Amino acid sequence: MEAAGTGAAFLTSPVSIAYLTGFAANPHERLMALVLRERDAVLVVPGLDEESAVTAAREVSVRAWHDGEDPWEPVAAALGGASESVAVEKGHLSLAGWERLSDLTGGAVPVDAGKELRRLRARKTPGEIAKLERASRLTDEVTERALAEVRAGRTELEVAAAIDHHIATAGARLSFETIVQSGPSSAQPHQGPGDRRLRTGDLVLLDFGAACEGYRADTTRTVVVGEPDARQREVHALVLAAQDAAMAAVRAGVAVGEVDEAARSIIRAGGLADRFIHRVGHGLGLEAHEDPSLDPGGAAVLETGMVVTIEPGVYLPGWGGVRIEDDLVVEAEGSRQLTRFDRTLRSVG
Ligand code: ZN
Ligand code: ZN
Repeated sequence: MEAAGTGAAFLTSPVSIAYLTGFAANPHERLMALVLRERDAVLVVPGLDEESAVTAAREVSVRAWHDGEDPWEPVAAALGGASESVAVEKGHLSLAGWERLSDLTGGAVPVDAGKELRRLRARKTPGEIAKLERASRLTDEVTERALAEVRAGRTELEVAAAIDHHIATAGARLSFETIVQSGPSSAQPHQGPGDRRLRTGDLVLLDFGAACEGYRADTTRTVVVGEPDARQREVHALVLAAQDAAMAAVRAGVAVGEVDEAARSIIRAGGLADRFIHRVGHGLGLEAHEDPSLDPGGAAVLETGMVVTIEPGVYLPGWGGVRIEDDLVVEAEGSRQLTRFDRTLRSVG
């Protein structure tokens, strides 16, 4: 990658740096940046990441700074003076970071590179798809063990910790913080686990994934502790039918809004349109949420090699929620499902 004309680029999001260089790290509050100028690419890293950056990063030179030093000195050296424009990730660079960068570039005009980077990342290479396939296979293996952890008397936090243990035992990292919600709290789609103890008759929503070499799978299953009642069966069947319809709508050339509508129209026909309170899915890769976003009415078009989730849900305050989520690769004539665990309503515990 090279900067055009008298421009430069200063990229700071760890996921963009991982995508472009192969070096993945979380620098926390320390400065890490990929600085591109003419034909030079310099990766500026905290000293504690130097060895791993030198080993992992492709086609860049690595410059480390150490605690107590000014991290902007190696940035200034890499920039080599003023430039007319500088490509940054406007959604990631802090205002304080921009002020320093503006000084170092002699007041360069900031140009957003974030959108283009996200567009590049949305279509996966065969190598990236292979990593997502592996992450999905491990996630399916963990799902069987996860369901066996759900029983009356345990807290949501205990079940989440057990799932995390199974992901580690499978040799993977967590795609994101595991979600376990039970009973009425399953009606809050993204709340995360608490100290509530599971009871017989509860709906329990489990949303988790294994990550392989940074690539993240993402699945959700909703189960019942003990025997499901009629309403639980009915809502689960509706969400499953919505997921089937949306998965059948996925193929290259289709607008994301059409995929969302395929699920939403089923839930609308079931009288619960106002309780499907989020988009039908999202892209997946180095981040658990990335482009494309499968929004209601969305005009973005699916392309071959995109990997997306399909995850309709229905949430009834005071009663509970049902979500079913799987990951798919978009293909020319349809899609290929990556996570494939049984989707029927399971009675557990
Ligand atoms: Zn999920
Ligand atoms: Zn998801």
